[in-house]
Amino acid sequence: MSSDDLLVTCTNAALTFGRGPQAVVAVHGANLEIFAGDRLAIVGPSGSGKSSLLHLIAGLEQPTSGTVTRDSCLGAYDIGLVFQSDSLVPALNVAENTALPLVLADRPEDEARQAALEALALVDTADLADRLPEEISGGQAQRVAAARVLAQGPRLILADEPTGRLDHTTGARVLDALLTAADHTGAALVVTTHDPAVAARLAVRRTMRDGRLLVAEEVS
Ligand code: ADP
Ligand code: MG
Repeated sequence: MSSDDLLVTCTNAALTFGRGPQAVVAVHGANLEIFAGDRLAIVGPSGSGKSSLLHLIAGLEQPTSGTVTRDSCLGAYDIGLVFQSDSLVPALNVAENTALPLVLADRPEDEARQAALEALALVDTADLADRLPEEISGGQAQRVAAARVLAQGPRLILADEPTGRLDHTTGARVLDALLTAADHTGAALVVTTHDPAVAARLAVRRTMRDGRLLVAEEVS
């Protein structure tokens, strides 16, 4: 793989919250490279530092020590975020929610709506287009979140426990939607999860334990 495909590099990236005796080391020096097209699961129990690492990758947090470098071509709109609980805007219907990143990026409204409807169709949610978030289930909302990312067309999709509150069957459909989104846009996909069944769907798995991102050999 050429270095052109390297999107994000974490080098001994650490994140500590607070200072002194109250300090919590959420991430100990993590080393990680994310390339275009990667399908990466970050697996670990609650509190192991998965969200913190994802925030470092996204640039939502700055490392307390070490570095996180993103490809210079990777702008804010090139990173698509999906969180555990859906972050749909309650007053907007599903189509409007899906079109939102494009509208915010100043794309013409009809073009944004068209892209949104195509994205919804790709993740099997076209029939929900006119519904409000309160009129759909949690699993449907997560698939809409995947559609929104698909419409946005980012180069990197970061999903933080996107199936965390869902049963296995519904979670599998959300993961289908995320994989569809990543395949369709050619984006790298990083998914955090505590669920081995979810992790098994991603090509590469890295384990987090007590803030440490283990190297493959350390996983027992
Ligand atoms: P995970 O996503 O695996 O559940 P987190 O990254 O959320 O783990 O948390 C890792 C550790 O960092 C936990 O001990 C948590 O309590 C702590 N932590 C996370 N966010 C903050 C914060 N904003 N302030 C203080 N401590 C935090
Ligand atoms: Mg978390």
